[in-house]
Amino acid sequence: MSGQTRKHKLMSIFTPTKTLFSKMAWAAYNTYRKGLHYRQRLADMDARLNEGRESIAQFQWERLRKLLRHAYQTTPYYQTLLDSLHIQPDDIRQPRDLLQIPTLEKSTIRAQLDELLSRAFPKHRLMKNATGGSSGTPLIFYQNRAYWNQRNLSVYYFDRWAGWDFGERQLIVWGSLPDVDRAMGLKQRMNNFWRNYRWLNGFDLTAEKMIDAFEQMQRWRPQTILAYASSLHLFAECLSENQLTPDWKLKGIISSAEMLYPHYRKLAENVFKTKVYNRYGGREVGLIAMECKAGRLHINCHDLYIEIDSDAPYTQPGEILITQLNNYAMPFIRYRIGDVGVLSDEVCPCGNSLPILGDLMGRTTATFRTRSGKLIHGGYFTQQFYEIKTVVQFQLIQESYDLCRLKLVVNDKFTNETHEWIVRQIKEALGENVEVRVEFVDQIPPPTSGKIAFTISKIE
Ligand SMILES: [Zn+2]
Repeated sequence: MSGQTRKHKLMSIFTPTKTLFSKMAWAAYNTYRKGLHYRQRLADMDARLNEGRESIAQFQWERLRKLLRHAYQTTPYYQTLLDSLHIQPDDIRQPRDLLQIPTLEKSTIRAQLDELLSRAFPKHRLMKNATGGSSGTPLIFYQNRAYWNQRNLSVYYFDRWAGWDFGERQLIVWGSLPDVDRAMGLKQRMNNFWRNYRWLNGFDLTAEKMIDAFEQMQRWRPQTILAYASSLHLFAECLSENQLTPDWKLKGIISSAEMLYPHYRKLAENVFKTKVYNRYGGREVGLIAMECKAGRLHINCHDLYIEIDSDAPYTQPGEILITQLNNYAMPFIRYRIGDVGVLSDEVCPCGNSLPILGDLMGRTTATFRTRSGKLIHGGYFTQQFYEIKTVVQFQLIQESYDLCRLKLVVNDKFTNETHEWIVRQIKEALGENVEVRVEFVDQIPPPTSGKIAFTISKIE
């Protein structure tokens, strides 16, 4: 028996054994570590979300009213707000009454973070989170354990539409700095092992690394891929240029965190010979909508109540407003997430009765390129700059290989040291010889499409 064949035989025995091990590890983790009757809860979600639209709407509405009462009773922000408007939570009896409550803006969250926290939770028990990615105003907020348990359950629930299941092999192409840093640690490496995940850093995608990852995939045969939309596109482009095609069957690809452009989808589906499922979510609120096999984006009505800020939400696109129904630690009610969309009243041919998001627009991102051919995800910069308290807003524009413009809105505590540090970070990523032109401005006006792009690359 040749070495290659022996290795192959070993793999073919090892792989199903590993999957079985991972399934058992998942069960143990969810049951004993998280204390979740997860199979039962997933079955309950399934039953509830298949009861028909009227029943789903009633379920959402009851939870929304409960959240509203909680927000009023335990957060200074909502108490003051509703009192100033002479509204009691019980006055909100039907969806149109909700229009009386002002939308929640990112600027408000930034200015009144503490007032938005529920006094029912000690702050040290809360989990801090922040928006990443390359779009949306960077923002810090808090969530609690029960919220995260449900958030993860919803991801499990919807990811199964794309072929994922507990313990099955998944390649993750993800580029959020803290997430990837954690992935490097021993603890996370062990987590990846028992969960049956492998990672490819979306912030560091060179042709060499992508080809190497592909060769490993040919042996490991992941059943699904979870990827940043732009990273998935780069990966597919690289494989296509090198005429590499998978010789195993992928069940599906989940594209997330960014806008899935039609040309991204087309190339990835051609190269990987499987369907790409668009998953729309936000760090602030969790999974918002998931694409089904019939290609429609179904709204996660179990966890969210969605409105479109438009006179005709079924025909005229508007900004998406989200009420997160589970985050009792820091209620998000009518939160303006910064994406534009429209609802659809279509009944989906897939048979699922969850309402549909007709179209999703206005998320932007950019990939930076260096002369040496290195690709840097725009989110790489946002991730580093969002924690700087003296920077109110920023926009990094790569004009050419040699010139970057950085627009900064800063407060009066901004120092020269911070200025130099930012320039150094950009040069470290893009190259010492790149000129970084810093422009201090009063504001960065959003484009008419809605959302400010924090990173823009003009290099094609
Ligand atoms: Zn469907």
